[in-house]
Amino acid sequence: MHHRPTTLTRGRQTIILLSVRITRTPDFEEESVRYSLRFCCEDCGHFDAAQSSCRHFWPTDVHRKDHHETRAVPLIDFCKEFELC
Ligand code: SF4
Repeated sequence: MHHRPTTLTRGRQTIILLSVRITRTPDFEEESVRYSLRFCCEDCGHFDAAQSSCRHFWPTDVHRKDHHETRAVPLIDFCKEFELC
């Protein structure tokens, strides 16, 4: 598991957030299907589908379903604020 710093700037404040990143492996893929894992913004209670954005103003690019489903991304970035809805 790797930690990658993410920053969010609001006015003159910059917030540094450590996201959780794992390597996408065949085991992850198999377990994701077997346990119906939910980890994308579209399954999160903080996601505003009408605005297609996070209600907490986090960048969503690497957490969106299409990012994982349409690209062969080698890493999975889990959002630390994900709330299953
Ligand atoms: S809290 Fe995280 S997972 Fe939930 S909508 Fe915002 S960026 Fe996406």
